[in-house]
Amino acid sequence: MSQSFDARLTRRQFLASTTAGAALIALHPYSAHAAANQAHLRIMETTDIHVHVHPYDYYADKPRDTVGLSRTASIIEGIRAEATNTMLLDNGDFLQGNPMGDYIAYERGMKEGDMHPVVTAMNTLGFDAATIGNHEFNYGLDFLMKSMAGADFPVVLANIAKSQGATAREDETLFKPYVILDRMLTDGAGETHPIKVGVIGFTPPQVMNWDRKHLDGNVTARDIVETAKSYVPEMLEQGAEIIVALSHSGIGSADHTDGMENASVPLAGVEGIDAVMTGHSHLVFPSPTYADFAAVDADKGTIHGKPAVMGGFWGSHMGLIDLLLERDGNTWRVVNTMSEARPISKRNEDRSITALVDDYQPVIDATQKEHEGTLAYVRRAVGQTSAPLHSYFALVADDPSVQIVSIAQKWYIEQMMQGTEYEGLPILSAAAPFKAGGRGGPEYYTDVATGAVAIKNVADLYLYPNTVRAVKVTGAQVKDWLERSAGMFNQVDPGATDAPLLNPSFPSYNFDVIDGVTYQIDLSQPSKFGPKGALENPDANRIVNLMFNGEPVTADMEFVIATNNYRASGGGDFPGAKGDTVIFEAPDTNRDVIVRYIVEQGTINPSADANWSFKPMEGTTVLFETGPKARDYADDVKGVTIEDAGEGADGFALFRIQL
Ligand code: MN
Ligand code: MG
Repeated sequence: MSQSFDARLTRRQFLASTTAGAALIALHPYSAHAAANQAHLRIMETTDIHVHVHPYDYYADKPRDTVGLSRTASIIEGIRAEATNTMLLDNGDFLQGNPMGDYIAYERGMKEGDMHPVVTAMNTLGFDAATIGNHEFNYGLDFLMKSMAGADFPVVLANIAKSQGATAREDETLFKPYVILDRMLTDGAGETHPIKVGVIGFTPPQVMNWDRKHLDGNVTARDIVETAKSYVPEMLEQGAEIIVALSHSGIGSADHTDGMENASVPLAGVEGIDAVMTGHSHLVFPSPTYADFAAVDADKGTIHGKPAVMGGFWGSHMGLIDLLLERDGNTWRVVNTMSEARPISKRNEDRSITALVDDYQPVIDATQKEHEGTLAYVRRAVGQTSAPLHSYFALVADDPSVQIVSIAQKWYIEQMMQGTEYEGLPILSAAAPFKAGGRGGPEYYTDVATGAVAIKNVADLYLYPNTVRAVKVTGAQVKDWLERSAGMFNQVDPGATDAPLLNPSFPSYNFDVIDGVTYQIDLSQPSKFGPKGALENPDANRIVNLMFNGEPVTADMEFVIATNNYRASGGGDFPGAKGDTVIFEAPDTNRDVIVRYIVEQGTINPSADANWSFKPMEGTTVLFETGPKARDYADDVKGVTIEDAGEGADGFALFRIQL
């Protein structure tokens, strides 16, 4: 236990705590070991459920053992069965984040009196309270308030206000800022005593930017720590004996800065708060992830000496804080704590997954109708495409499956840059083909025909649950980013016949196409960068005729590039994308952005704009392999001359390009 926590105890209490503490850690769970004047309270957390009620991946349209509140619920029910005193709290981000959320928001709707299935599931489990995450605002305030109207539990959120007063305490908040719950505790002698548990909630103030179109003019956000310092004394005045903070905010810097997104460390330092439920980062605490964080004990699970927990995401874990409370006159005092995150599944050495718990059936039964509605929703059209979406030629020409990702990312980042210091900078978009044959085999391509687009198809367009990022780069970095991508190709001698085009050791997901500029790739040059990103040929220039708006891109120009968290944080080791150029970290996945784009547009036109091509090389031909179904589309490919060259190896088809 750290100084700041112990400082609140008398010497006698401190000694009691250390003696009790040793016993507790040896003999867990410790309800049975609470003394006559002590009680053990187990506070359970779910966080970042993102509408994962059933253990199902609706994008892939198959069951998945790593997700689902129905699984976390089995751990919750297990704790309830063995513990004397329990509480269950949710830490936000439950209304949005999978196709069930989109199905309710975009199709079934929330009419007056409708129940949201995730709220139904939470009612079934009997939550004591919940807070509101940033994603609760994604579908607008009307949808949010109608969804929460069905909750049987109090919803608390202190730092979002309909109108602001001089201090947070004087704000007219959107939800109750906090509640003080009257509960009965059974002590070690079997006697019951009342306790008042205060629960207060917080969300990142960045929602004002992320959901500007829904929130601007309707609500305002305050800094999390400032808000806590304002309300916690009031909660104590109202008789709260212990105070739990529901912090839909990550574990980050110990130094408080105004408006910080991940404020759980300075929040834990606020006097009067006894325990902190964290989330938002989709990580696990306690865990070695946080070993080097200031004021954090990543083994014991404390921040500033106070217990904290983060229960993963999508129902992957249940967070558990154990409090040993001791009667102190007429009130209760925390004398020891433990915290842990319990997983619903484990990954085996061969990467297979083993479920550790079964479904808690009442949660499944209560939401079965909406589950089936979601299955039907992902399997039918949500929009139309006026061009086929395929990736057969994604490595040799500008391609519709990459184009649609770029278009949606650019559409989204343009909205996010509004009102920021970056508004007005040209926005480019980088995307790579994920399904492009290779080791996946000759069928491993995106192939969606003209006409209906279903949600399932979006998973096919964007395989990974990445989140959107924007980076700010120079013209020189744009060029080197593309030089890095161009390592996809072998060097080709001028005049060569049927030279192999693609470097098989270069993964397609590192072949970024940048939309918004035009360029050619000169295959006669060696690659400037090696397959892992090392600078190998500093003087090589494969990228030629790089233009923006018809003007040459110069080294000192400035651009914003829309990309994903993998690339922006250094994945693939791309120039201009090593983590230090990030100007915007979106809360949304690239997949969600594509779905939103399709739903809002109705009909999309993802025809490639042929913004890149190979530099012509007279009398030179190259060969490449792709899926045999590519033959249906070969005549439509722009910017390159392609002819059928027969069968390739292992079921692939062979094509020839006249450079
Ligand atoms: Mn989340
Ligand atoms: Mg393009």
